[in-house]
Amino acid sequence: MPIRDILQIGHPVLEARAAEVDVERIGTAQVQGWIEDLIDTMRAADGAGIAANQVGIPYRLFVMEVNDNPRYPYKPPIPLTIAINPEIKFLSDQTFPSNEGCLSVPQIRATVERHVEIAVSYHDRRGKKQSREVRGYSACTWQHEYDHLNGILFPHRVRDPKTFCSWSVFQEYHQAEFAEAVGRLVKRWGA
Ligand code: ZN
Repeated sequence: MPIRDILQIGHPVLEARAAEVDVERIGTAQVQGWIEDLIDTMRAADGAGIAANQVGIPYRLFVMEVNDNPRYPYKPPIPLTIAINPEIKFLSDQTFPSNEGCLSVPQIRATVERHVEIAVSYHDRRGKKQSREVRGYSACTWQHEYDHLNGILFPHRVRDPKTFCSWSVFQEYHQAEFAEAVGRLVKRWGA
């Protein structure tokens, strides 16, 4: 399956709401092919996740996987997850200042507030409905990918523009402190 080109911030497909996937069509070669392309493209780019509209497929699905990710060394593991027509509910008001990057936002990172206790539901790649609660830093990754399906990129949610920084500056000046904060969250919630 091919690795696809990743659209960049400002592209109209990235900034529009993606359409629901017809659940009856999840088993088709077309939808299964999209899933394979998303997995291959995410892994090739060292992403923690990628939404279908990031590669020009304007439908509501994303994939996530974290396993010793070199782009995000502080992220706790997330097993390969394929989320089709996902929904997210917030379970509390508690938020965490999540410093994020995005494959569609080259070179730049910034801090956005994310909820740390959420309930997710979605169809998996076999079309089966899945529901569970997600707590800790992995909840931030879920919200980042879900936002993509509504045309929202992390810069749209940044409250303090002074948190914008380049990847190299982040790594030199901010990553150690941020990794400690993530570590405290992971210790509390186990993910
Ligand atoms: Zn992204």
